[in-house]
Amino acid sequence: MERKRRIAILGASGSIGQNAIRVIRAHADELELVAIAGGSRVAPLSEIANEFNVKEVTVFDPPTSKDALKREFPSSTEVSTGMKGLLNIVTRDDIDMVLIAVVGTTALQPCIEAIRSNKQIALASKEILVMAGEFIMPMIREHQTVLLPTDSEHNAIFQCLSGETSSSVEKIIVTASGGRYLDTPLSEFKNISAEEAVKHPNWDMGQKISIDSSTMANKGLEVIEARWLFDLKPEQIEVVIHPQSIIHSMVQYVDGSILAQLSPPNMSFAIQNCLLYPKRKEGIDASLDFTKALSLDFRAPDYARFPCLKLAFDALRIGETAPAIFNAANEVAVAAFIEKQISYLDIPRLIEFTLDKMNILQPTSIEAIILADQEARRISHQWTVS
Ligand code: NAD
Ligand code: MG
Repeated sequence: MERKRRIAILGASGSIGQNAIRVIRAHADELELVAIAGGSRVAPLSEIANEFNVKEVTVFDPPTSKDALKREFPSSTEVSTGMKGLLNIVTRDDIDMVLIAVVGTTALQPCIEAIRSNKQIALASKEILVMAGEFIMPMIREHQTVLLPTDSEHNAIFQCLSGETSSSVEKIIVTASGGRYLDTPLSEFKNISAEEAVKHPNWDMGQKISIDSSTMANKGLEVIEARWLFDLKPEQIEVVIHPQSIIHSMVQYVDGSILAQLSPPNMSFAIQNCLLYPKRKEGIDASLDFTKALSLDFRAPDYARFPCLKLAFDALRIGETAPAIFNAANEVAVAAFIEKQISYLDIPRLIEFTLDKMNILQPTSIEAIILADQEARRISHQWTVS
């Protein structure tokens, strides 16, 4: 009998993590959850550890002492903390695939170490390739492993590209819901609060990505991630607003044919595609029902409404450290917006300010990108408190 695929999840207690747990639970004959990691919330990790009897748990930033922490988990479960714990998990011999679903770029180093240990990677954390795609994609090839895109748009493109050669691709068309402010008068943008921006009309997601979706910085990050995942030129990437989030993205071939991937706006479809890849098995959620009324609308994005998307395309065209700077400034801006230090309209202003202020360079190593990221964060922080 074929061995089960052994999985580690970084960000197991989050929105992607919880959906992945549902997939693993439903496909227990194919998948085994071996290790999990989370930020600081112990209770959801403890629940997962008990249900799956996982071998190792990392609590990155534990709220209690190590001894008190250990008591929260089964006695057979190894408990680790911090970056050391994450690196330990991703390099374990008894793991085949790592699902990376931590917000931001915290999991950059664990991602690199997992590739070096020849693990298969299912990548939900889009910020990682935005920052370091230039270095990570060659590592995937060098270590002859696979990187499976878990974000719904990239997973859609990945499925539409199946069996095709890259020279036959004219362009990709990345769909975007347009978020909750698609039709809000621009004059009302100055009053938008974080409590409100975090509510997405179609998707149930974590706080940062929900705010990124409302500004379309999320789509900007996805465009940059797609450039690295599928080795495309900036002009081969188009964004189209599709408010229903049913078509998750499309590939247009040189002959004019366009392939699309459709499913309800629910991450379980993309996550299952990655965890079971290349197998297909019964899905865990109901798919579309075409006997019921269904409309699919499209329109071009308006940069006056979504300046963060324009800034992301600018950063992509500039290249070098510009995408990493865009990402770092956006992360600082969203955190400051949540803390009520800056307004909603300040988010793109802060990104633009940081991109203007920074010396954009061709990075020669991942370390050079990390330095640019830190400098961009410092400059952005200063702006939020000035
Ligand atoms: P979330 O806020 O719901 O969950 C984040 C998870 O990361 C939590 O489990 C948290 O405990 C954990 N975490 C935080 N810091 C950590 C650390 N230092 N070490 C280990 N774990 C840590 O976020 P989410 O919505 O699940 O998004 C996760 C990633 O997936 C993001 O990069 C996001 O852009 C991407 N993504 C999410 C969705 C979605 O539908 N939620 C879709 C596409 C892509
Ligand atoms: Mg997405």
